[in-house]
Amino acid sequence: MSHNKYDYDIIIAGGGLSGLIVATSAAFYSNQSLNIVVIDRNSYSDLGKKTVNGWICGDAVGKNSVDYMTNRIGVSWGSPEIEHPVKGVIAYSPNHETGISFDGDGYILNRRVLPQRQLNDVLKMGIKVMDNIALRSLIADNNYIIGVEGENLKTREVFKKTAKLTIDCTGVTSVLRNNLPINSSIQKKINRDDLESTGRYIYNFKPVNQDKTYFDPDYCIIHLDQLLAPGGYAWVFPKGENKVNIGLGVQQKAFNLYNKKFGTSKNLKNLIDEYVKINPIISEPVLPDGQEDEGNTWGTWQVSVRRQNDCLVANGYMLVGDSAWMPKPLDAGGIGPAIIAATIAGKDAVEAIEASDFSEKTLWKYNKDFINDYGYKTAGLEVFRRLLQTLTNDQIDYGMKYFLSKFDIEKITGGEHPEFGKLDKIGMLIRGALNKTLAEDLKFTSQLNKQLVEHYFNYPNGPDKFPAWKNKLDLYLNEAYSRFK
Ligand SMILES: Cc1cc2nc3c(=O)[nH]c(=O)nc-3n(C[C@H](O)[C@H](O)[C@H](O)COP(=O)(O)OP(=O)(O)OC[C@H]3O[C@@H](n4cnc5c(N)ncnc54)[C@H](O)[C@@H]3O)c2cc1C
Repeated sequence: MSHNKYDYDIIIAGGGLSGLIVATSAAFYSNQSLNIVVIDRNSYSDLGKKTVNGWICGDAVGKNSVDYMTNRIGVSWGSPEIEHPVKGVIAYSPNHETGISFDGDGYILNRRVLPQRQLNDVLKMGIKVMDNIALRSLIADNNYIIGVEGENLKTREVFKKTAKLTIDCTGVTSVLRNNLPINSSIQKKINRDDLESTGRYIYNFKPVNQDKTYFDPDYCIIHLDQLLAPGGYAWVFPKGENKVNIGLGVQQKAFNLYNKKFGTSKNLKNLIDEYVKINPIISEPVLPDGQEDEGNTWGTWQVSVRRQNDCLVANGYMLVGDSAWMPKPLDAGGIGPAIIAATIAGKDAVEAIEASDFSEKTLWKYNKDFINDYGYKTAGLEVFRRLLQTLTNDQIDYGMKYFLSKFDIEKITGGEHPEFGKLDKIGMLIRGALNKTLAEDLKFTSQLNKQLVEHYFNYPNGPDKFPAWKNKLDLYLNEAYSRFK
């Protein structure tokens, strides 16, 4: 196909958080010289909506991720899309005795309002945004992706557009990735156990009592607790002095075991309602009725907690954000990595188009660039997540109290895997057989993490060496999987 036969240079599938940043980034790096279109199934006023229930998210993002974007492509966010500033995240042990603070300054966003700000920025840069289009499949030609197909939801007409490059930003359920019609190293399907079922409320409430382990207007609070959130965690994120984003995520397998063990048949909403109820600070919660929260006060959605897709590119095709399983495996924070990946993807896409080469080989650079800036640490964190899911509340209480050193907390603060050096100290007495096993397992994850980080920094420079790299990755991971069954 000759180049002038394409409708666009770049099609960005999905106009949510990632898609709108990729668009801005590509326009920025090409001096607005490319023909770019963003396509979303929502109407303009509902852009970025993940499901009929809303823009489901915990809404928290670290300042450093937003700065990453601002420093590179000049996009900055303010009020009203930033709803409330925070000083960090604190994760509490099940007994609330130990709290570890990480991530530093950050923001609680208004995800309903943010896409409107992004839409404005994108339109100002001359990018086209098409709404009410549900994409259903990718168009392939000669083992290249050359566009998208779907349906105009207003007219019910078939929609079909071609481009040199299609960038998939359609989120975790991406039907485009699931049915990728060409040969590539991209993994199409996710393992069910690597997904968390999550949900949350946005509430206004009357603060009563004082207990900063349950609500703190300055900190995002995470509760690790296998009874409140089996195989996941629960959160209380402040959106103001008396406004909160409160919810939790579970691993379905762990939740099924929980229901079996206690002879219950609870669903996710039951767990979340209970979690709101036991919070001693939050009284008289009511769903806010302002326009900025309209249609976005309650909902559930999926989030992935694995390393990013082992490969992010194919001929004519790139994955960014949740469609690439980028949320951090430990806390499902997906906004930060989406911002980073989207900023990079825009740049690498422009380079490929300027070189008139949209092959997997040329796009491969994006794999390396994302790994260097973020992706190197995710496989180790995935292993750590798997270990955490095997623990009882007693083990989490004990481990957080006795096994974490100041150094480990600094590591965690940087979003990295802790080293648990404290465990090597001769003479450290460990109470209980289960805690001894935990100590061994922590040492194992920290050693494996070092190997995995090194392995990721040796990510191949091109597709030809990928199979050997991937084999070695699977060997490392299988060792962990069989240990943390
Ligand atoms: C309950 C919950 C809590 C979370 N909490 C946090 C948190 O506190 N901090 C954090 O960093 N991350 C959090 N995350 C993750 C974060 O929300 C995501 O990482 C982020 O939204 C990813 O952005 P995205 O643009 O890649 O995908 P999405 O936000 O899912 O956007 C995808 C867009 O594509 C559109 N689309 C999808 N399919 C099609 C199609 N077929 N055709 C056309 N358009 C389509 C959608 O309508 C949407 O506009 C949470 C997730 C959940 C579910």
